[in-house]
Amino acid sequence: MMRFTLPRDIYYGKGSLEQLKNLKGKRAVLALGGGSMKKFGFVDKALEYLKEAGIEVRLIEGIEPDPSVETVFKGAEVMKEFQPDWIIAMGGGSPIDAAKAMWVFYEHPETTFDDIKDPFTIPPLRNKATFIAIPSTSGTATEVTAFSVITDYKTEIKYPLADFNITPDVAIVDSELAETMPAKLTAHTGMDALTHAIEAYVATLHSPFTDPLALQAIEMIDEYLLKSYDGDSEAREQMHYSQCLAGMAFSNALLGITHSMAHKTGAVFHIPHGCANAIYLPYIIDFNKKDALDRYAKIAKRLGLSGTTDDELVDSLTSLIKELNKKMSIPSTLKEYGIDEEEFKAKVDMISERAIADACTGSNPRQLNKDEMKKIFECVYYGNKVDF
Ligand code: FE
Repeated sequence: MMRFTLPRDIYYGKGSLEQLKNLKGKRAVLALGGGSMKKFGFVDKALEYLKEAGIEVRLIEGIEPDPSVETVFKGAEVMKEFQPDWIIAMGGGSPIDAAKAMWVFYEHPETTFDDIKDPFTIPPLRNKATFIAIPSTSGTATEVTAFSVITDYKTEIKYPLADFNITPDVAIVDSELAETMPAKLTAHTGMDALTHAIEAYVATLHSPFTDPLALQAIEMIDEYLLKSYDGDSEAREQMHYSQCLAGMAFSNALLGITHSMAHKTGAVFHIPHGCANAIYLPYIIDFNKKDALDRYAKIAKRLGLSGTTDDELVDSLTSLIKELNKKMSIPSTLKEYGIDEEEFKAKVDMISERAIADACTGSNPRQLNKDEMKKIFECVYYGNKVDF
């Protein structure tokens, strides 16, 4: 038996934030990141709507990028004291991911972080609160996914928590919030979304339910990402929707080793998640095509790329990705990114081992061992073609 899970409601369109005024409830926490939502007036707007709904609000502010285990437990304490019936998380991936994990420890104070590290070990939620996610970046799609990435800074490990229990109940996909994204963030989050859609389409768990979402997302990202990067408002709106579609696909089909590698090098080398994915993706397509050539070729056909054989089509797809990276000033190798060669050599065994153990490796279309993973990392570092 398979399962396909999405939020109960997705409100979308410019200004859809106003759905907050229709909420029924008593108390809400509003979880926020570093302050951009406040600066651009969206926190005030949200508070006004919630006031209109007669809901008392407590803020959890300052959730850092790559939120820590400690931040999660601090937020859960606020929730335990305030007893909200709504958890509203607004901002980039980080505040939403952190709030999802806080939700678990709010509803289950006896649970430890170790208890929920493995996929599908989160106990049932929604006895105390339901969850609304309002994304301000166009990439992670955490507003519709069963995932939350929490970092343990003591061990430098990023844990992708995964369970349909943390799929939000409501997503508000209002592109007005994403219009304030700087160009670099637009590039990184957009490439993250493209990686989600492509990895979901070739993942071992892909299905007739996820394929149309993934393909539609890829087509829209191809059409709108560069325009969105240039600041075009309509393109920003379309990117906000396409990353959400990609999220619906990968939340159910899961991902692959592009993400396994990005998770592990993100924590060790501090490469932004979307940037790491963008760098790895073409190399991983070259590695995976031994087992998923026809799937990648179908993507290329959908995009109308050139090629008469599947191999040619897939080469066109990797060229397209490299071209996108180039146009958005994303480096093509880890060396070019600025990772020191000695540091890379010292850490490559460790990150390879960790990447193999990552939760995203199991659904990759081609299985691999640690030595192969290390060889891929070396190709990405020096810019060599993956041909094994
Ligand atoms: Fe991602």
